[in-house]
Amino acid sequence: MNDIKNQLLVRIDADRNVIVEFLRGFLRCKSPNPPGDTLAAAQFVAAFLDRSGLSYKKAAAKEDRPNIIATTRFPKHGRHLVLNGHIDVFPVGVESEWKHDPWGGELQDGRIYGRGACDMKCGTTASIFTYAYLTGLQDQLHGRLTLTTVSDEETFGPWGTRYLMDHHADEVLGDCCLNGEPSSAHSTRFGEKGPLWLKFRVATRGGHGAYVHTSKNAIAIALAVMSELQSMAGQRADENPAVAAALDAAHDALEKAYGKGAAKTVREVTVNFGSIRGGAKVNMIAADCEFEVDVRTPVGMLQAPILAKIDAIVAKHPEVSYSVQGGNESNWCDPASEMFEYVVANAQRVSNVTPVRVVSPGGTDARLWRSRGVPAIVYGPSPDSMGAPDEHVTVEELMHVVKTHALSAFDYLASSR
Ligand SMILES: [Zn+2]
Repeated sequence: MNDIKNQLLVRIDADRNVIVEFLRGFLRCKSPNPPGDTLAAAQFVAAFLDRSGLSYKKAAAKEDRPNIIATTRFPKHGRHLVLNGHIDVFPVGVESEWKHDPWGGELQDGRIYGRGACDMKCGTTASIFTYAYLTGLQDQLHGRLTLTTVSDEETFGPWGTRYLMDHHADEVLGDCCLNGEPSSAHSTRFGEKGPLWLKFRVATRGGHGAYVHTSKNAIAIALAVMSELQSMAGQRADENPAVAAALDAAHDALEKAYGKGAAKTVREVTVNFGSIRGGAKVNMIAADCEFEVDVRTPVGMLQAPILAKIDAIVAKHPEVSYSVQGGNESNWCDPASEMFEYVVANAQRVSNVTPVRVVSPGGTDARLWRSRGVPAIVYGPSPDSMGAPDEHVTVEELMHVVKTHALSAFDYLASSR
């Protein structure tokens, strides 16, 4: 079996230019979300599968957001591994802050630049090549391998993996999911915090700023509510012992992968005020104020008690209303799941790094597997430039992720368990 894995590594190295050029071409297919049109990126993936002689189908609930499903059944009975990656990306942001063309797929000094380079066209490239390599190993592998490349991940959208789970669950749920969202080579994710996005509105009568006795001030009320919301930050969850042990062991790795303070952030409720707007003029009593809050709940904590607390805060202020804009519960799978063993061992073999099992502060489609009881393992490039100007991935990272995914998927399907 080791021979085949060696051959696989030789083949991936020989394909280095093919893989690099694939990602560069993929990055030239604009797929910012919003607005979310991924036709060019999906066509790019489909063309590669066509050239490779691999069949697939499109499963699109919305015409401009196609998802692709390709599946291979191996002759021997076994388990079903699903590879998942999204093809939509963040918007460019302020283009003048980029030194490189965000849609140029530029390669310079060993780095590939473009919006989506690390989140997550690198990881999706790893899924696509892993699928292409393993489909050829009919004699060695067991069970079934499925590739899903999806649209509509960046905005909690319903037309990507969620659509596949609702309408094609028998094809995409499988027994295990491997996903290449950015994690850094030094960590692999078994869980993620639960985002809860809220929008608050405050409305008062308003009036002249010299006559403050005539009306309540919407901005002042907003500040009071914000202060009470902020007081929810820092709460810890009742962690499952396996989660607690893994996160204790991951302390240093979390700080290394996501910055100093991350080990605390992932285990606590966090409250982030993302936007605020209110009032009309310096000498008027503000009659309106709107603000948005991103609350993140740690693994092991449900959002219902948080929402109950928010209801209680809002109930004290009749001028205030709020709505939930999006979100989902925190989620995790067993950090001892078999696929983690393979990812760690193969990352060591490929690049001599030992990824530590962590919970991510951010969300991914992996939650959709975990919430259905299927282990979902995230392992991808560094998230450092994610969503930022000059987003990039190094060629070495790209090759590391492709190799680690291919070898780990191989190990999983080569096992006759
Ligand atoms: Zn992503």
